[in-house]
Amino acid sequence: MPSRRPYLSKSRLIAAWQCLKRVHLEQNHPELGEISAHTRSLWATGHRIGEIAQRLYGTEDSVEIAFDKRTGLMLNKTRELIASGASFPIFEATFRYEDVLVRVDVLMPDGDGWRVIEIKASTSVKEYHVLDCAIQNWVLRNSGVNVTGFSLAHVNNRFVYPGNGDYDGLLIEHDLTDEVRTLEPTVIDLVGRARDAVTGPRPGIDVGAHCSSPYECQFINFCWPTDSEYPVSGLGGSKAKLGEYVSLGYRDICDVPADAVTAETQKRIHRVTCSAKPELLDGARRAFEALPFPRYYLDFETIAPAVPFWVGTRPYNALAIQWSCHIEETPGRFLHKEFLDLSGDPPMRALTLELIDCLGAEGPVLMWTRYEEGVLNNLIELFPDLRAPLSRIIDRLYDLHPVVKENYYHPKMLGSWSIKAVMPTIDPDMDYAKLEGIREGTAASDGFIEAIQPGVSPERKAELDAQLRRYCRFDTEAMVEIVRFFTH
Ligand code: SF4
Repeated sequence: MPSRRPYLSKSRLIAAWQCLKRVHLEQNHPELGEISAHTRSLWATGHRIGEIAQRLYGTEDSVEIAFDKRTGLMLNKTRELIASGASFPIFEATFRYEDVLVRVDVLMPDGDGWRVIEIKASTSVKEYHVLDCAIQNWVLRNSGVNVTGFSLAHVNNRFVYPGNGDYDGLLIEHDLTDEVRTLEPTVIDLVGRARDAVTGPRPGIDVGAHCSSPYECQFINFCWPTDSEYPVSGLGGSKAKLGEYVSLGYRDICDVPADAVTAETQKRIHRVTCSAKPELLDGARRAFEALPFPRYYLDFETIAPAVPFWVGTRPYNALAIQWSCHIEETPGRFLHKEFLDLSGDPPMRALTLELIDCLGAEGPVLMWTRYEEGVLNNLIELFPDLRAPLSRIIDRLYDLHPVVKENYYHPKMLGSWSIKAVMPTIDPDMDYAKLEGIREGTAASDGFIEAIQPGVSPERKAELDAQLRRYCRFDTEAMVEIVRFFTH
């Protein structure tokens, strides 16, 4: 009789480790989940790192077990290869034990056994990575594979790309052989609990910090209350504390008794929300009125690819690829300048020179959070000869965010002082959600990378060009409007 138990993949078991309700919903009600753009972007990064790993570990005769919905085909192909005495690397080798299915990133021949390498796109080894490896080790060992060692290879963020497709050194290996063996009882326990969760009734698990750690759960909008005007999650702060409020039955911020809120920021959000009147203090007006002219409102867009593709750049290093600047020469008199180059050549040098030219020698450079400072420091690292003019720009940076945070809160901001949360409360027409196509940073980064691919059609490239310019310009327009709001 064939087994009727559902397969438990490795990722399902990690989901179960995070939350048994999550694995139940994944198996029984996947339609209730929403995969975010951020999560999709992480998956794409994982695939890209996997491709590079196959190049790094591959040999002329290495074999990849291609994905097939018919799991049996992948299992058979793997079995045949190993039984034939293969002595070459195998990628995505597939094994099953007690209906737990794993696909192994890299299987390297090692004497009369196999050394296993798990590939991760992170820059360090995390606790759940070791569990991930232990699940594979348990399945492989019980499938009769002689596992001689277990390593995890992750991205080396000190690697500098020398060009010519040379990624030697991009990955760093850590030997986890001993750790994965000691975790075997944990794996057996997890498999049992996960199986009960997928086949049994929905586990009664409250929301909390585990909903976004280690991974953002796709069922957040299902589990967290969203059916009130100011959902309790809008209090912000500790996710564990918010989970407690939800478990006590509070759905709206104003359901929470004032004396149950203790952190200062959360007390303020609670007070303003329940008063139904925005808080507007005079400090922002005074601070912004004191800023001299000309004023420069600056915003960068960046990419931070895990696999660098421009010579001299490092993994996950935020590289400026675009900027927008509104220049207020005298009160109310504006000029707009911008930089965007979709040729595919590294744009950073030209971008920097044009920025230095645009920003002149004096006047505050207004930005939102210190992110722009980090981007400028990365440009200094890339172009040490431009250290002096870039350092002078850093000295002129003026961060609007803390001033607004100290002096303004509107209930509709739902616990966030991001520019995307603040702007629509000041001018409902300036809502990022109304932008066509690109309306947040991850989409801008993905859009840029898509636009510079050789195969992109001219129509799509033109569309992305327009969306990227509109999005970046919107950020600096928003800063202009925010300063205007506080000073008029
Ligand atoms: S949102 Fe939280 S409680 Fe709900 S399934 Fe996900 S992790 Fe579990």
